Amino acid sequence: MRIDIITIFPELVRHWFDQGVVGRALAKNDAPASLHYWNPRSYSDDRHQRVDDRPFGGGPGMVMQYEPLARTAAAINADGDKPLHIYLSPQGTTFNHELAAELARKPRIALWCGRYEGLDQRFIDEHIDAEISIGDFVLSGGEIAAAIIIDAVLRLIPGVLGDAASAAEDSFHHKLLDHPHYTRPENTAKIRAPEILLSGNHALIARWRLKQALGRTFLHRPDILNQLELSDAQQKLLNEFLTEQHLGEPS
Ligand code: SAM
Repeated sequence: MRIDIITIFPELVRHWFDQGVVGRALAKNDAPASLHYWNPRSYSDDRHQRVDDRPFGGGPGMVMQYEPLARTAAAINADGDKPLHIYLSPQGTTFNHELAAELARKPRIALWCGRYEGLDQRFIDEHIDAEISIGDFVLSGGEIAAAIIIDAVLRLIPGVLGDAASAAEDSFHHKLLDHPHYTRPENTAKIRAPEILLSGNHALIARWRLKQALGRTFLHRPDILNQLELSDAQQKLLNEFLTEQHLGEPS
């Protein structure tokens, strides 16, 4: 997969992927994905490489200008197959696991990071295929949003995570939240790790983990659980969890 990032601060995104599991995957010779950076300043005909100007109609802030953005888009489209152009915007569709999985199936996406008051609307109308928000709040720029999307999408690409199974066991993958995790030592000052995880019985461990995942989803994200049709076995496990937690059974 190829991801193009369009930003006047490419180093902000680049540094994010210098390290960590996704960064290591991108640095491999046979990397399963590649990141390409484009700076609209390089496509400005202003001698100071400005890409912003005052808004028509007045008011605070600056607006990213149509021309350098359109030239950047033309250069990107001429560099291989045309990507899906996505503008990171608080006004877009809210990002989630399903959207990450959908993007992970695309061969190429381009992430446009706004600054100031955002991009000139005529550029959005002409060149942007989709707008994505990372939540109902406003950031100073799209770079953090782009890094979040890149990280979440690349984790789903085969070959990015060291253990291929780990993304499949994460929260949301099977619609449920993840089960809790424990590691050495077996005892901390006050709490012992659950006995079953120390038993070596893999069937019982898998059953316990599913029960915890169901229980956590019930407690923390009832909205997700309400959308699921639990099998009889899953419902039994959830009831067991609730009884153990002295929470009664769901109606
Ligand atoms: N005037 C814009 C508005 O209220 O819709 C906000 C502009 S914001 C200060 C500057 C840039 O940050 C945006 O162009 C966008 O690229 C990015 N941004 C801000 N909040 C975001 C969010 N929640 N999700 C994704 N990108 C965001």
